[in-house]
Amino acid sequence: MMKKYIEVEAARELILSDSNSVLPPEKIDLLASLGRVLCQDIVADRDLPPADNSAMDGYGLRAADSAAAETAPLKLAVVADIPAGKPWPGRIGAGEAVRIMTGAPIPDGVDAVIRRELVEELDDAIILKKKVSVGNDIRSAGEDIKAGETVLTCGTLITPAVIGMLAAVGVPYVSVVRKPRVAVLATGDEIVDFSQVPGPGKIRNSNSFSLAAQVLQAGGLPQVFPITIDEPAAIRRALQNAVSGNDLVLTSGGVSMGDYDFIQDVIRDLPAAEIRFWQVKMKPGKPLLYSRVAAKPVIGLPGNPVSTMVSFEQFVRPLMKKMAGFPDSELLPPRETAVVLEDLPAPGDRRHYARAIAQRDENGQLTVKSTGLQGSGMLNSMVRGNCLIIQPPAKAGAKSGERVEIEWLGY
Ligand code: AMP
Ligand code: MG
Repeated sequence: MMKKYIEVEAARELILSDSNSVLPPEKIDLLASLGRVLCQDIVADRDLPPADNSAMDGYGLRAADSAAAETAPLKLAVVADIPAGKPWPGRIGAGEAVRIMTGAPIPDGVDAVIRRELVEELDDAIILKKKVSVGNDIRSAGEDIKAGETVLTCGTLITPAVIGMLAAVGVPYVSVVRKPRVAVLATGDEIVDFSQVPGPGKIRNSNSFSLAAQVLQAGGLPQVFPITIDEPAAIRRALQNAVSGNDLVLTSGGVSMGDYDFIQDVIRDLPAAEIRFWQVKMKPGKPLLYSRVAAKPVIGLPGNPVSTMVSFEQFVRPLMKKMAGFPDSELLPPRETAVVLEDLPAPGDRRHYARAIAQRDENGQLTVKSTGLQGSGMLNSMVRGNCLIIQPPAKAGAKSGERVEIEWLGY
């Protein structure tokens, strides 16, 4: 059943709840997995560190020997020199020490390390002036990770630290959720490619590029289709191609009330298609159309360049993140409140997403002001803004000095 003119939250909920299966996994190079979601549990094959080792460049000794240093300086004979990576097979006895570098394995007999700055170094001996306790500056085997331990679980977002952990446990290829493939399809008789000189009444296609860039930034693989004219047969062909090769289809333009807005009619007549809702109570972005075709989401974004981008942030980015395996808590843009530095015009009967610039003042307080003119075709407002002020529907706008809610862009 198609819904009409619904709230932003209801719209987003519908889009997200329709898409409840995460994309299948693929195996990729370790470093390429940065920013993706892990699809396997990772079990450590060995302890980390693999053996007891020195945490400092210094001297390994017997803690019991060192007790005597409390009363008088104690001389210990240095019987070996142990660099990192070169285990020394010997054992120290009473009155002996080894010179040992950070990361080098602790030899038999040694139960404490003292850093070199804290002793007097002679040719083949050291002078110790204080007691050293058992275990001092020794890192024990497995203190970070134990062999057999599950160090990472399926669903983990791969950060640089996770990459380091994967390398530490010897995983060269990682199973991650595949990137969503997203078709980007601009429509409009007036739209021309930027390689062309726009004739009378024509305008360059910016939406395909802003959208493809948003798709990339959201971790997807955009497939940009040629511009489609406002003609049902052409739109139908393009849409069918787009659906067959992608996980998600975005169109721009042609979803409003105009005589040449055919997207909705064309989708309705496609096989296995369902229009889920049309029109959202927001400004910009009201004419948004959400449908499913062959069980894939097809989202008709409004053509005005700002509407296209703002709608993407509200609906498409969260959907892409869900498809890519991100947990529900990480789908939405971060929100904060900020003090508005000017009177805002009344939003009217729909929620207004005003493009704005937020910054901290000298007291650390987050402040925000609008980018100025807010026409839904004014791409410049998106270029200059770093956030959106969320103005709930009201007959009056916020007054300068009030707190307003903002949503960061490009999170
Ligand atoms: P529509 O949603 O088709 O009625 O288009 C609304 C407005 O957005 C019109 O002024 C269009 O010229 C403009 N527009 C539509 N598609 C694009 C596009 N791909 N690039 C730039 N502007 C566009
Ligand atoms: Mg149009």
